[in-house]
Amino acid sequence: MSKTTHFGFQKVAETEKAGKVAEVFHSVASKYDLMNDAMSLGLHRLWKTFTVAQAGVRPGFRVLDVAGGTGDLTAEFARQAGPDGEVWLTDINESMLHAGRDKLLNQGLVVPISLCDAEKLPFPDDHFDRVTVAFGLRNMTHKDVALSEMRRVLKPGGKLLVLEFSRVWKPLQSLYDKYSFSVLPWLGKRIAGDADSYRYLAESIRMHPDQQGLQQMMQNAGLSLVKHYNLTAGVAALHTAIKI
Ligand code: SAM
Repeated sequence: MSKTTHFGFQKVAETEKAGKVAEVFHSVASKYDLMNDAMSLGLHRLWKTFTVAQAGVRPGFRVLDVAGGTGDLTAEFARQAGPDGEVWLTDINESMLHAGRDKLLNQGLVVPISLCDAEKLPFPDDHFDRVTVAFGLRNMTHKDVALSEMRRVLKPGGKLLVLEFSRVWKPLQSLYDKYSFSVLPWLGKRIAGDADSYRYLAESIRMHPDQQGLQQMMQNAGLSLVKHYNLTAGVAALHTAIKI
């Protein structure tokens, strides 16, 4: 019997999940950035700015943005790493990468792009100074495998940064639930013509490990000095870790 996993609140065969996630991101790619601003009231920009600050990228760094989508983090890293750096935009989804490539080109940034699965990264061991994944890990079928891959491609001393939705501060939970399960699908329908993908977003956040759970997963993947920062009362969290 094939193993099962979750796609939002649905139980699906492991072999089906990546295809279902692909449908979500093919559907929303052209409206993805607009939806991010609308549903987070621009907060995702602050969370990403904090992530970029914690990454501390310097000229000449090699940086891998996993599940980089429309390239918000990639763009900042490319500016910071400069012409001597090597900053990759990668994602499993072509539609998201097309949107990302066009956005970066409009900002005068040309970076190498790879269409690849985080669970099987096409990069050598010990190559990158920084690896980041923003709002991507939650969608992956085998998060443990993806984290091990990210660790593998980091140089010893390199840093992994995982920005993801997390568990909100308890007193805000019922308000946040109301917002997530009614406003998000409504916004999705109005702006992206797709309520289901934003219902999946709300559900997938609930199925993702909480702050401590993700910290443990990162330790299990062999990462050291794992810590996290709650952002906006835990709506999101940034986990960081070092490969020793
Ligand atoms: N990092 C971008 C950001 O913060 O705006 C995009 C995040 S978007 C919510 C999630 C991305 O994860 C999508 O572009 C999706 O295609 C990608 N993704 C999902 N599963 C993946 C996998 N196994 N490997 C690589 N990318 C994946």
